[in-house]
Amino acid sequence: MSIIIDAELCTGCASCMESCIYDAIELDNNIAKVLPNCTLCRACIEACPEEAISLERDDAKAQKVDISQFKGVWVVAEHYKNKIQKVSFQLLSKGRELADILQVNLTFVILGTDFDDKLEEFSQYGMDEIIYIKSPILKDYYSDLYTKVITELVLETQPEIILIGATATGRDFAPRVAKRLRAGLTADCTGLEIDLETRNLLQTRPTYGGTIMATIRTPSSRPQMATVRAGIFKMPEKIKKNVNIRKIEYEFKEQDSVSKIVKVISKTKTPVNLEDAKIIVAGGRGVGSKENFKLIEDLANVLGAELGGSRITIELNWLDPDRQIGQTGVTVSPKLYIACGISGAIQHIVGMENSNIIVAINKDPDAPIFNFAHYGIVGNLHEIIPILIEEIKIMNLNKE
Ligand SMILES: Cc1cc2nc3c(=O)[nH]c(=O)nc-3n(C[C@H](O)[C@H](O)[C@H](O)COP(=O)(O)OP(=O)(O)OC[C@H]3O[C@@H](n4cnc5c(N)ncnc54)[C@H](O)[C@@H]3O)c2cc1C
Repeated sequence: MSIIIDAELCTGCASCMESCIYDAIELDNNIAKVLPNCTLCRACIEACPEEAISLERDDAKAQKVDISQFKGVWVVAEHYKNKIQKVSFQLLSKGRELADILQVNLTFVILGTDFDDKLEEFSQYGMDEIIYIKSPILKDYYSDLYTKVITELVLETQPEIILIGATATGRDFAPRVAKRLRAGLTADCTGLEIDLETRNLLQTRPTYGGTIMATIRTPSSRPQMATVRAGIFKMPEKIKKNVNIRKIEYEFKEQDSVSKIVKVISKTKTPVNLEDAKIIVAGGRGVGSKENFKLIEDLANVLGAELGGSRITIELNWLDPDRQIGQTGVTVSPKLYIACGISGAIQHIVGMENSNIIVAINKDPDAPIFNFAHYGIVGNLHEIIPILIEEIKIMNLNKE
């Protein structure tokens, strides 16, 4: 925000100077002029008899951006231990679709250290261009360096859309970049479409605690930024394509960042990988108790599946938090999802609806989960699951 003086209305009466306890206004050629030490206290606005002083909000300035100058779709890559995370490739597949509709280039932006040998492989994922920001320090994630580099690159290149994984790091730097660019950012999108007439990105996400889906657009600022969780979009098909590779080297030193990475601590237990699981067996409140989860685990074991659960099972301490599926947990898209004793609240559904085949076991024939399931079994899971386990065991034996 800033204080604006309308030179045509100002009479040089000095009322504003007298009202300013910070001495932040002077007269210049008999017209009031605001000095850098202004605190935006607004006393001068009240004091001006000519109504020549007003407050201009930053968002009013942002509206003056010439949005037609912005072209292209970006996906910013996320990596850990020199491995690009799956969500970045999934965003490339959606990014390709959006770029094709807009008839612009799709650019994959990577900040890192040791990706020179991998750029060729990445170029099969459908982008037109890779921008590789290389600096030894960027083998790790630095919040302020990511923000600085991406902001500078956006100002230079002016993309109209930027897609970022809604991961811990994506959620950290995306709002920082958006703030610096005065751009709109929609977090945790579950759907992205284009309104071709206006070239607006239609960003859909659950809102009001997941009770409704909102579609958000940012019509007057660019770039349009969105974060998306892993598992929402499919992996892209690999294709052969000529990709333009632009490498930019940065000479960052440790002291260029306000933070210093002292140690990276990995979790000691084997991490749960629900996002990549081909089969998931998930339990809900209907399982009944922590002990009863043994049955769900047995079903998961005979199927070679990962174990997951609804939020309530985490709140009741029946399962570890990293097994929660849904809006505030993990988004999954396995080939087979078996929901046992889960009612099908929308906050759960948004996390698993992209599964290829959904099987629901529930004793209530009117449970909402049956509206999303491809196959439904109505009945008591404690009777049904043991039968399923025995049948699967026999099938497994027959396969051997
Ligand atoms: C902001 C917000 C975020 C949320 N995020 C998430 C999230 O990420 N993930 C999530 O899961 N939830 C989330 N929730 C909670 C969500 O709204 C539901 O409360 C939750 O999903 C319900 O879990 P459930 O289906 O296990 O339990 P319930 O809704 O209690 O359903 C239990 C089901 O089990 C069935 N059942 C009972 N006994 C048996 C039996 N013996 N055999 C077969 N069926 C049986 C019942 O018929 C019932 O349908 C969120 C809520 C809010 C407000």
